Amino acid sequence: MRYVAVIVILLVLAFVYFIVRSRNRSAANPRVSTSNVIPIDRNHKTKSKSGEQPCSYCKKKNGKLIFYAQDNGTVVGLCKDCRGKAKKRDMLPL
Ligand SMILES: [Zn+2]
Repeated sequence: MRYVAVIVILLVLAFVYFIVRSRNRSAANPRVSTSNVIPIDRNHKTKSKSGEQPCSYCKKKNGKLIFYAQDNGTVVGLCKDCRGKAKKRDMLPL
């Protein structure tokens, strides 16, 4: 009977541990969903699915964009036509 008691205690402990963990997860999930991280990720996914982002300079959807880092630290995606402007500015492709 001692073994049965030990097993029951272990099961109870495992059950309590499981409940505490699941409660911690459910408590953490609302914080994640209310943060801005998920909406931004969704936007990125929809953009990558369509595969057509407008050029940062001419705003045309002109196929694949190449991303350049500007002097002020911002990143711009440029189409074929605007890559020459980026090279003239000595912008670095990412
Ligand atoms: Zn362009």
